[in-house]
Amino acid sequence: AREKEDGFDFFYFVQQWPGAYCDTKHSCCYPKTGKPAADFGIHGLWPNYDDGSYPSSCDPDSTFDKSQISDIMTSLQKEWPSLSCPSSNGYRFWSHEWEKHGTCAESQLDQREYFEAALKLKEKVHLLKSLKKAGIEPNDELYSLESIKKAIEDDIGFAPFIECNKDSGGHSQLYQVLVCVDTDGSTLIECPTLPRGRCGSEIQFAKF
Ligand code: 5GP
Ligand code: 5GP
Ligand code: 5GP
Repeated sequence: AREKEDGFDFFYFVQQWPGAYCDTKHSCCYPKTGKPAADFGIHGLWPNYDDGSYPSSCDPDSTFDKSQISDIMTSLQKEWPSLSCPSSNGYRFWSHEWEKHGTCAESQLDQREYFEAALKLKEKVHLLKSLKKAGIEPNDELYSLESIKKAIEDDIGFAPFIECNKDSGGHSQLYQVLVCVDTDGSTLIECPTLPRGRCGSEIQFAKF
């Protein structure tokens, strides 16, 4: 698979639940623009190989250039907020994602196209809506992992991969949702390979 000319086989499009990033032992810091909406946020668009491995930091000469995304900055702040500490305006997170992951997809997407592709995918994969349709809401209740996966699959047509983390009390909770995307950066596909992840069979969907 590594012989493919694109240099990678597919993307993981990764969204994170802010409630689960913030209620762990490490806590979080809201962006300088304020508390993000109670919605999933983008974590990244990650090139991957079919065998489960992945390239990273592929082009040291291609550094993050915010002038290329100045007109989509407001959307990025809304859809791709950074919750790490100290409080930021997003540049550090976006720059990290571009340099670690985005540079490995440069044969397909330049920097501007990379960020635009992620924003378009966020519109296409509206997780909170998919979950709500199935009666699953961020209310600190427990839901079965299967019901969460099914709600998303029923809505978008493809099975997602769910990653969990633990809240400060040690409870397994919905943290990230991965869906797979073709190398064009826009077509959803079945995942060729799944990362290892440990969720309980019942997981919490934290309030935010
Ligand atoms: P963690 O160890 O928290 O799951 O992942 C740490 C970082 O490794 C992620 O933020 C991401 O940059 C990278 N990473 C983890 N798993 C994968 C994967 O399956 N594919 C890719 N492309 N990157 C991954
Ligand atoms: P990865 O390497 O796993 O793709 O990205 C994680 C890196 O981005 C870590 O260094 C983390 O501190 C930083 N980061 C900044 N803001 C966020 C955020 O809101 N969520 C996550 N998961 N990582 C963030
Ligand atoms: P199976 O794939 O046989 O249903 O599950 C095997 C193991 O992987 C179980 O421990 C199950 O909880 C876990 N698992 C299955 N699907 C997912 C998923 O989408 N995300 C995570 N984190 N674990 C999963």
